[in-house]
Amino acid sequence: MKTVSDLGDLRGKRVLVRSDLNVPLDGSVITDDGRVRASVPTIKGLAEAGARVIVVAHLGRPKGAPDPAFSLGPVATRLGELLDLQVFFARDTVGNDAKTVVAGLGNGDIAVLENVRFNAGETSKDDAVRGEFADQLAALADVFVSDGFGVVHRKQASVYDIATRLPAAVGSLVQTEVEVLKRLTEHPERPYVVVLGGSKVSDKLGVIDNLLDKADSLLIGGGMVFTFLAAQGHEVGQSLLEVDQLDVAKGYIDAAAEKGVDLILPTDIVVAPEFKADSPATIVPADQIPADQLGLDIGPDSAAAFADVIRGARTVFWNGPMGVFEMEAFAAGTKAIAQALTEVDGLSVVGGGDSAAAVRTLGFEDSAFGHISTGGGASLEYLEGKTLPGLAILENQSVEGND
Ligand code: ADP
Ligand code: MG
Repeated sequence: MKTVSDLGDLRGKRVLVRSDLNVPLDGSVITDDGRVRASVPTIKGLAEAGARVIVVAHLGRPKGAPDPAFSLGPVATRLGELLDLQVFFARDTVGNDAKTVVAGLGNGDIAVLENVRFNAGETSKDDAVRGEFADQLAALADVFVSDGFGVVHRKQASVYDIATRLPAAVGSLVQTEVEVLKRLTEHPERPYVVVLGGSKVSDKLGVIDNLLDKADSLLIGGGMVFTFLAAQGHEVGQSLLEVDQLDVAKGYIDAAAEKGVDLILPTDIVVAPEFKADSPATIVPADQIPADQLGLDIGPDSAAAFADVIRGARTVFWNGPMGVFEMEAFAAGTKAIAQALTEVDGLSVVGGGDSAAAVRTLGFEDSAFGHISTGGGASLEYLEGKTLPGLAILENQSVEGND
């Protein structure tokens, strides 16, 4: 894949950068600016190279039309603060305001275009409709840089189609993400420990399938653990349970044994009568969950055992919180696992939107980990062994573009 340095001298060139600025918002307040921070190096590098930088990104899931609740305005402001530079903002994506703002850019200036998903063409399943929108985007720029790792698994106009219309390269964020994911899938240093949690088994099937062939140990916590415990014949009370995945969970337990992978489930669970922050919590053995309670975190013995396995690893991939970390009473398991990842002598990777948010809200610095992936879905699809359209299209790209 071509990188920005393969694009030659960018001074005075209009460079369209697809970034991932899809941050969680509370009203117009950004509650976690991790993705904006992660976008800074590429944008800054292009500006310093004298390019006229045009940032295109999405926020949330507007329905293909402008919706003020999903405006990128506050994000553009935050980007300016992080860069300590003026960042211009266009109130549309390919309309008159975007054209005017882009025409006004000097060398080294930066503009953010309004939410690309305010345009139905961005996510259309119809190649022609998407292509038409990609043409309009391409008309704004001379060069395309793909740096929104969180969207590279999407076949969308600003991710995929645009790369066939302009000379294209990956930015440093996508480059780093791909390098790290390669280390998790090709010749990982051993022991290789995979830690999975989060809400649903069904979200993580592909990853389990693919990583069962590569990992030495698979630790399971979070909401998905109850389907595994139930598959072993245990009562799980009111806990999250995917009845339709019981056979699948059984299958994984058997496959792990066959492949010599240590599949480790928690031995104790924090339970409470209700899914509420102040519901009285108790710790019970994992095979004795009371019928009228639900499991909301792994227990302290399990957390300590998981942490031991993690600390002894040379490669760790963690996706999915161990419990309902959003409530303090059920955050300890997730915190213990995060702490153990920071102590790994080797590569520790956190993947998944909620997992990344968890480590930050629990007070860990990004730098304490080997890597925190900005792309939940994209990193999972990569680890499932799927082809990601936004990467595949760049692999086939020449620096001169396709025309
Ligand atoms: P990620 O975004 O990192 O891939 P997921 O979206 O799969 O993670 O899961 C995150 C959610 O899982 C969190 O909101 C957390 O509250 C929830 N969760 C974790 N453990 C439990 C549990 N025992 N019961 C219900 N929900 C849980
Ligand atoms: Mg999630």
